[in-house]
Amino acid sequence: MSATPVAQPSSALLALNAVSKRYNVGLPNEAEVLHGVSFNIARGELVALIGPSGSGKSTLLNILGLLERATSGSYRIEGQEMVGVDDEALTLRRRTTLGFVFQFHHLLPAFTALENVTLPALMREGRVTSRQRDKARAMLDAVGLGQAMGKRPGELSGGMQQRVAIARAMVLEPPLVLADEPTGNLDTASSDEVFALMRRMHTELNTSFLVVTHDPRLAARCDRVLELVDGRLVRDQVTVAGRA
Ligand code: ADP
Repeated sequence: MSATPVAQPSSALLALNAVSKRYNVGLPNEAEVLHGVSFNIARGELVALIGPSGSGKSTLLNILGLLERATSGSYRIEGQEMVGVDDEALTLRRRTTLGFVFQFHHLLPAFTALENVTLPALMREGRVTSRQRDKARAMLDAVGLGQAMGKRPGELSGGMQQRVAIARAMVLEPPLVLADEPTGNLDTASSDEVFALMRRMHTELNTSFLVVTHDPRLAARCDRVLELVDGRLVRDQVTVAGRA
């Protein structure tokens, strides 16, 4: 059991300091894939993470999402250190603070849109209250799927499925949503629609987003761009959209 983490005063929602990641530690194929990455994300920022394939974006996203552990450095969420805390604390933090949207929506095919959106409440509390079901309905309304709540993912278009995934990521109103290529498998029109939705949710709920993307158009529409090359942060820049 590790020591109880001590909350540190910090205005950043998320603060990464000199985070490194090594895979296969102690083995002949040991490799460091993130080398001392540092940045902060404040409440309500919409940030793009770009970089070539193999630059470490997924590894970084997994560390930020508390799905993988940093090898060294410090990662604080709302001032609480995450490096070195036990699995239970990480799971609790993940469920209270983070929402996830993936390229392939990961909706459960046998469940309706509404049931999929109530899943985070089920996982966090072991049951779904009528209040939470109402909240899930309101969230599906907000993403324009009020008429499709009873449909299963296979009956929805790719863009609609991704909107369900966004509703699911946001239903518990996490302060931070991590999105991994959320428009990666969509055509331009659906991709624009999904991005516009994320922007609206970001504005209305003051949710912070970190969006991994290969799409320069999408990155330019975020407020800030972080760029990774070979496991190093080579750019941290406010965009024209971010200055507006
Ligand atoms: P990106 O998402 O930018 O494509 P990744 O984070 O997937 O980059 O990968 C960064 C580097 O880390 C790559 O060289 C990849 O081969 C390596 N890598 C990723 N995951 C593992 C793992 N589980 N074990 C060993 N090496 C890994």
